[in-house]
Amino acid sequence: MAGTPIFDQLVYLVGEVTIVLILGFIILSILVVGISFYSIRRGYFYLPRLVKSGIVATEGMAKGICKLLGLDDKEMTAFAIRLHNALNQSDFEKVPADRRAIFIPQCLRNAECPAHLTPEGIVCRRCGRCEIGSHVDSLEAMGYKVWIAPGSTLIKRMVKQYKPQGVIGVGCMIEVREGLELLDKANIIGMGVVTLKDGCVETLLNWQDLMDTAVLGIEPAEKETV
Ligand code: SF4
Repeated sequence: MAGTPIFDQLVYLVGEVTIVLILGFIILSILVVGISFYSIRRGYFYLPRLVKSGIVATEGMAKGICKLLGLDDKEMTAFAIRLHNALNQSDFEKVPADRRAIFIPQCLRNAECPAHLTPEGIVCRRCGRCEIGSHVDSLEAMGYKVWIAPGSTLIKRMVKQYKPQGVIGVGCMIEVREGLELLDKANIIGMGVVTLKDGCVETLLNWQDLMDTAVLGIEPAEKETV
């Protein structure tokens, strides 16, 4: 078979298709990076659905292009999260508060937090050493189910058990990005809120960012509890 005209033509065809696919992938990556940065600079989402799919499909290559151009790929990740939130916002607004869940990372606690780990995550004792307690009260009063999560295993378990329709995930940029992708795959409407400071203990959150997301689509009477 090797060396026959048909075999040669087949190898040639496979080579051509491979080159076209690689070129297409590179062009798509450049387009995604270009449109994303233009959107970031202009503060407007251009071709949002196409860009979102492109970011997911070309992530590694897009990061490589960012590095090659000396661009900050963190900015690109932050943009992807903002874009994701913008695309999900109207669907999230339609989810009743009692079908929504919030996962707060345990690293936001005070280092001397007296709360204990339970099968449903860390249960806040409202000791006042950090801002979690008061905010959990407000969010639960709105109808939210809130967990302080020690890790992604608990999140996956609670999502499976309680089947929320909408989820707000709080965390560092990478955690939020990965979490939103998982929620997408599970057909759950996800919104991401990124912490101000990464780390393992006493990280920082602009709580207003979380509350602004939490009140989306909530009736005024329910908001008054915030
Ligand atoms: S308010 Fe809750 S989460 Fe914060 S330190 Fe106290 S018990 Fe821990």
